[in-house]
Amino acid sequence: MCASTARGMAMEGEMEQEGVIKFSFEHRQAALLPDRCSGAASMLTAWRSILVPLGLIGQVEGRYGGVGFGNVSARLGQGAGEPGARPFLITGTQTGRIQDMALEHFCEVSRYDIAQNRVVSRGLIHPSSESMTHGSIYDLDPEIRVVLHVHSPRIWHAAQALGLPITAPQVPYGTQAMALEVRRLHRQTDLAQRRVFSMAGHEDGVVSFGRTGQEAGQALMGVLAAAYEVSLKGQDRR
Ligand SMILES: [Zn+2]
Repeated sequence: MCASTARGMAMEGEMEQEGVIKFSFEHRQAALLPDRCSGAASMLTAWRSILVPLGLIGQVEGRYGGVGFGNVSARLGQGAGEPGARPFLITGTQTGRIQDMALEHFCEVSRYDIAQNRVVSRGLIHPSSESMTHGSIYDLDPEIRVVLHVHSPRIWHAAQALGLPITAPQVPYGTQAMALEVRRLHRQTDLAQRRVFSMAGHEDGVVSFGRTGQEAGQALMGVLAAAYEVSLKGQDRR
């Protein structure tokens, strides 16, 4: 085994806990290649600069026990690729507090195996605890190239009123079960058109995706505005 390669299985906590990695991983501690990753990193950093001030990504005292929340990813390379092997760049684990993102705060996930609950990655930082969920979304459709996972109490509480696809409440984040649940939603709901779903088993958890950052970001912003509208209507009735 190469000295710079770490293998491990992070613990599955008894309780739902943000930021805990729930898959086994093989991680190569090595810098990312700028030629391959810089474009995706800039685009994700740009969207993150919008999402952090909105409180959708970050690390805030009093929210989730002060643990970082939210993560973003984008596919790398050209072509459709095979399910389980559609490489993507994702924010590293616990980077919510970081203001100025650089390539060293990202990680490349080259393979992810939903059946074996295993992720292969490279970077100076370990991959986000929600990498498996991101991978499962890329597996839905080779055209999907960007995934944004945010924490929005406003969207999460309005999800039913908005008719958003919602993952089952007993399914926790970052697990194989979540990956399968995402696949079910894609089959049974209008998720492919809406590009946004809510995770009932993951407090405030919302995911959007698209062929570009713009498509994923705009879908999310549209739903956020609609969620504000729902709460305004609630106030009207009082
Ligand atoms: Zn989350």
